[in-house]
Amino acid sequence: MAKKKLFVLEFDKGVDEDFKNWTKEAVQEFIDLFPEYKDNFQINEGKSYYTKAEVEKIIARSSGVPSDSVWAMFEQQSDGSYLRKESLDWSIRQALENGRVNTSTLLDVRHKENSFPPDEPVLVSIISKPAHLGYGISNQRDMCVSAAACGKNKEYFKDIVMHELGHVFRATHKNRRNVVENLGEHCTDADCLMYEYAYTGEAFNRRHHKKKPIFCNDCMDSMRDYMENTLHLVRQGQKNLSVTNDNSENLPQPTSNIDRTFKADIRAVFKTSAEKEGSVYKENIQSPIYSATITHKDGLVDHINAANEQEINLSAKTKDGKPTTPSTKRFADIAAYAHSKDMAVNFGDIKTSDFKAKLMLACLTHEPPVKMTNAPKVTEEFLNSIKDEKLRQTLKDKTPKLQTQNSDSPQKQAPENQPQPQPQIQGRNNGR
Ligand SMILES: [Zn+2]
Ligand SMILES: [Zn+2]
Repeated sequence: MAKKKLFVLEFDKGVDEDFKNWTKEAVQEFIDLFPEYKDNFQINEGKSYYTKAEVEKIIARSSGVPSDSVWAMFEQQSDGSYLRKESLDWSIRQALENGRVNTSTLLDVRHKENSFPPDEPVLVSIISKPAHLGYGISNQRDMCVSAAACGKNKEYFKDIVMHELGHVFRATHKNRRNVVENLGEHCTDADCLMYEYAYTGEAFNRRHHKKKPIFCNDCMDSMRDYMENTLHLVRQGQKNLSVTNDNSENLPQPTSNIDRTFKADIRAVFKTSAEKEGSVYKENIQSPIYSATITHKDGLVDHINAANEQEINLSAKTKDGKPTTPSTKRFADIAAYAHSKDMAVNFGDIKTSDFKAKLMLACLTHEPPVKMTNAPKVTEEFLNSIKDEKLRQTLKDKTPKLQTQNSDSPQKQAPENQPQPQPQIQGRNNGR
């Protein structure tokens, strides 16, 4: 179930094997800093030039994508090879100014999306030509380093790659302490790789001499926060709380004599919540599962059933016994319970959009936000499937922009190491 955060490494024609190996080492060392998320990360290598047979293979593998649109992603070269558009070598041509690469332009032409969906790959571009400005650059999701600018010094080069990855993963941002703004946000800890003068010889020597962690605690915390709450990476050993909304009469009863101690924590949440809102809490103590109802003053009854500590079923009926969406407070209760157990809320088995939307809002507005797995992407399509108009608008307002991207990549089954054809019409990258 783990979502992969992909690093796509690309090297232009002139980059030698040493720099390629050092790049791989640097990216791997960066990943190793986050062992709790290691299952989410994957490193692939991309390339720029393809043979005719390779393009044909891609076409054969992308069922449903017209072959014309695949050919259109390549530019035939005079030597008969095919240069993939938006590949590194192709992008360098667009960004070349007087023999130097304008790396800012390069990042723009490489990845033309106008927002940063969390499941987009990180493009790691290593160029052999000198850059217009400095050694490395990153925008909010990709990075580029000029090998020509850093000499053949392995540790120095790797530091630059990791510094840029630090930017990509939001190690420094203006809403945290100990940062200064100087060509982007940088860390004020002189021993941290995100320090603004980290590239000076003095800082380099001091850092390597001290053998301190590469990134300071503030930068590490910031990156973990980004991985957890924006990228929604799945932590190793992450426990899930499966939420369902089946009609309570249809629930299967457990056959074995299960341990009932799990009930206490669930009871604590729902009973307290019911008492606070002045509703009537009733629980079937005899049942092997946790089974309770909360009756509101207006007659609405929430039904809560839990077969164990990781499965909760929530449903509701009106005064007249008609099924309806449970009260908003019950969703908040579920979010609070999941948070107290350090669980992610799993949306996989929920049947209706309104239910999903309410639960999503509860998770997003809980302080701190509660992790979600298999939650729907907030697309226009999903929003339109929500029946409650007010709920639809609230969710739309609450959802960060990066979740409202469409992800209709035409070639979902693209084999690894092959280019993922991008949709042809895309907005310009206006973030930096
Ligand atoms: Zn920087
Ligand atoms: Zn730092």
